[in-house]
Amino acid sequence: MIPESFIRDLLDRVDIVDVISPYVTLKKKGINWFGLCPFHHEKTGSFSVNQNKQFYKCFGCGAHGNAIGFLMQYKGISYPEAIRELAATCGLQVPEERGARERREKADSLSDLMLRAQRFYEKEFAGSVLAQRYLASRQITEETRSKFGLGYSPESWQALEAVFGKDYTSKRLEDCGLVISREGKRYDRFRGRLMFPIRNPRGQVIGFGARIMGEGEPKYLNSPETEIFKKGHEVYGLWEGRDAVRKAGRAIVCEGYMDVIQLSQAGFREAVAALGTAIGEAHIRKLFKIVPLLYFSFDGDAAGRHAARRALEQALPVITDTQEARFILLPPEHDPDSLIKAEGPEAYEREIGKALPLSRFFVESLGEGKDLGTPEGRSKFIAEAKPLLLSMKQAPVLRQQLVNSVSLVARMEPLELSSLIGLPVPAAPRAKPLQPFSRRGRGDSPAPGRGPRGGAVPVTGIRGRMLRAFLAWPSLLVEFEPDIEECFAGSDDPAERRILEVWRKCSPLAHGGELRSGVALGLLEESSDIGLYKKLIDEEMSVPTPKDQAREEIRTGFLKIALDSVQARMQQAAAADPFDADYYEGLAKRQSQLRAELDRMNARPLPRYLGEVR
Ligand SMILES: [Zn+2]
Repeated sequence: MIPESFIRDLLDRVDIVDVISPYVTLKKKGINWFGLCPFHHEKTGSFSVNQNKQFYKCFGCGAHGNAIGFLMQYKGISYPEAIRELAATCGLQVPEERGARERREKADSLSDLMLRAQRFYEKEFAGSVLAQRYLASRQITEETRSKFGLGYSPESWQALEAVFGKDYTSKRLEDCGLVISREGKRYDRFRGRLMFPIRNPRGQVIGFGARIMGEGEPKYLNSPETEIFKKGHEVYGLWEGRDAVRKAGRAIVCEGYMDVIQLSQAGFREAVAALGTAIGEAHIRKLFKIVPLLYFSFDGDAAGRHAARRALEQALPVITDTQEARFILLPPEHDPDSLIKAEGPEAYEREIGKALPLSRFFVESLGEGKDLGTPEGRSKFIAEAKPLLLSMKQAPVLRQQLVNSVSLVARMEPLELSSLIGLPVPAAPRAKPLQPFSRRGRGDSPAPGRGPRGGAVPVTGIRGRMLRAFLAWPSLLVEFEPDIEECFAGSDDPAERRILEVWRKCSPLAHGGELRSGVALGLLEESSDIGLYKKLIDEEMSVPTPKDQAREEIRTGFLKIALDSVQARMQQAAAADPFDADYYEGLAKRQSQLRAELDRMNARPLPRYLGEVR
């Protein structure tokens, strides 16, 4: 554990603009600095850095954080690693517990051994006609070989003795998996194989993949799990392709080392692969930290389809609403390499263009092999979809979209499906309107402020502004929940119905914390008023309303609406026969209360708005 006080001290000393500017060209505009976001593909600079707050934020993809967070996200390194890197730039020594320091020093020394071995394997490659012929037969150029540091382990039991001399007996060579010790004998793990060094995000060699070049088993041999090599976490090709991934704004996740190397050589330098047998959540999480768009590209055969389905299952719990996964489905006879060799890189680029979005692949992959024309087939389909939908904890909007797609196939209502599989269902408004100030049935007739039943009344000024304020700050839906229910439930006024709709769709999610406008928009996608909602949020983007102002606007709006309603009732009560003096007096008292409250609100500086919304 690095002490909190050290981290605070460190963040005090560094300036976030200095930390970010080596990687992003920043220009000062007003109080903020702007540049092209390194985390998503864009042509206009949505990436802003606020020097006062020492914080960066991208208005395009939502990436945000402090100097430490930037380094973690940009370099794909861990929290302690980012702190160490930052500390080094200002000459500070990170205080660590003794155990932690020892572990790190040991890890560094293990990867030093790996690096020495890798250099040796590269040198051996230069002298091995066999290995050179093999790579030539796979049409891999020297440039590509050198980029990935491919080498050759000679066909000999103790070749590494030439590198390590008398240290060949050191236990550390066993710890890093280069040497095996069995029954008093020591020998090299890798013999007579093509060597693929595996590097971590800092570029250190942490393991090897090794491929046999002729006949024999196993075809691939990997370094064992060691202190520095955790197969479930490392992504092959990420170090070599890190700049390309950022530049392309996407990563192509393929099946193995050879796919990565061949795709890279064909111009798809953003290709990476999971290490070990199959892609897992940790791999996907690591990639999503660096780039918001992942393409999964597996072989076109049955095994490839199976791998794609697994990738889908692993991606669902990890993906968020601002990230995207797509699935490239190659023709059955092809893998990426064979397709590119047969039809050129353009053919593969075309396949990328045709890749299925996660939502389509989800439905297609689950529907495979089921007769969806029968109730039994559809039940099986729902049963399989259920755990997958439930696993999507980070992407409420995407999950709702999937529920909609699944319910179409299942021939059910989305709400019915949600409750069947145990997903939260947005609360429906109460059927019976709760009229404010009603007494003994007198207040049941609609107040004049609400407009004629069923008529298409334009959004009036107050309600339009309230709607915009709610869309700008959806968490206010929760704050004003009782007012919304009390004033608008059962209303026929189109403007009030819109506020109710926004509340119904968005407030279940706004309960958990700040719900962003963009996410709210996603929840309203299917509304017939989506165009209006988009327009209002667009306006918010250019002239944002601070939250306090939005809150005052809404409060004022409810006061005015209540005042209108009370005044209409007073008119009715005045004309009523017999005249109910108590009732009238109660209304009059309420009227003066509301007026006083409104006066108090109006005494404050008025919020700045673009004008009335119609
Ligand atoms: Zn961005």
